[in-house]
Amino acid sequence: MNVPDIKLNDGNTIPQLGFGVYQIKPEDTVESVSKAFEIGYRHIDTAEMYGNEKEVGEAVRNSGIDRSEIFVTSKLNNGFHRPDDAKKAFDKTLSDLGFDYVDLFLIHWPLPTKYDGDYVSTWKTLESFHQDGLSKSIGVSNFQVAHLERLAKETDTVPTVNQIEVHPYFVNDEVRRYGQEHNIATEAWSPIAQGEVLDDATITQIAEKFGKTPAQVVLRWHVQRGDIIFPKSVTPSRIEENFQIFDFELDAAEVDKITALDKGEDGRTGPNPDVFDYIPD
Ligand code: NAD
Repeated sequence: MNVPDIKLNDGNTIPQLGFGVYQIKPEDTVESVSKAFEIGYRHIDTAEMYGNEKEVGEAVRNSGIDRSEIFVTSKLNNGFHRPDDAKKAFDKTLSDLGFDYVDLFLIHWPLPTKYDGDYVSTWKTLESFHQDGLSKSIGVSNFQVAHLERLAKETDTVPTVNQIEVHPYFVNDEVRRYGQEHNIATEAWSPIAQGEVLDDATITQIAEKFGKTPAQVVLRWHVQRGDIIFPKSVTPSRIEENFQIFDFELDAAEVDKITALDKGEDGRTGPNPDVFDYIPD
């Protein structure tokens, strides 16, 4: 089954469906990512913070698939925003993955209350990774509209993507709309809200109609809204299930019904980027 590509504002493309590896233990990562490749996934979303970049690299090498056919994203860890630290952290990402480039590198969190709120110089450091050809594309994660507006005012490059929390209980349309208006692709993290939305009656009824699972319906909803997704699972049957979402189509009313499940800020499963200030030891 062919996964559609999304064109980024720098001309590169990214598969709309990938495989996320947050909370996959290093010892389980090679097996899970290898399973994902076997099923047909060609896009892996990792991060320095996840502690499994080495194993992602190993799975890529084991797969026998040409490196150029696999899209790998990683993200700058929160303790490394200062330019020299960011450069060192990025070099470590490349050496842990065992790659000479990543396809996409993101600022994981804006941390507006840390580092004097200076995510602008961090972004300029990412621009240098792009100019050096070491990251084919660069982007941000968890940026709110105000953070994106500041980058637009103070820097020359528009992020290719903004990876933010989006699912039926937190549709995050204000930030998504800014992205649509400024050619920044939205990547929806925790697309099934780590399972929290799967018992919702609206979703289970639509799933029954199509003979699909609630997870497939929610992932399909994201795809039809145009967002990029990378659900996570270590269960082979679920990794497979999450890939089988291109053989049915929700109608506009069904898409709207799911969007209407939004609970606003109460629907977040993760932290609010305006106040999140966690720096790992
Ligand atoms: P998710 O919404 O993908 O949910 C994952 C959980 O849902 C799994 O642990 C599993 O328990 C369950 N699940 C998966 N498939 C299922 C299925 N078919 N049926 C029933 N249950 C199923 O949550 P996530 O892992 O938090 O998010 C996905 C990816 O997004 C992550 O792996 C990571 O790559 C990225 N992410 C990024 C950030 C960020 O700050 N940028 C934050 C969180 C996640």
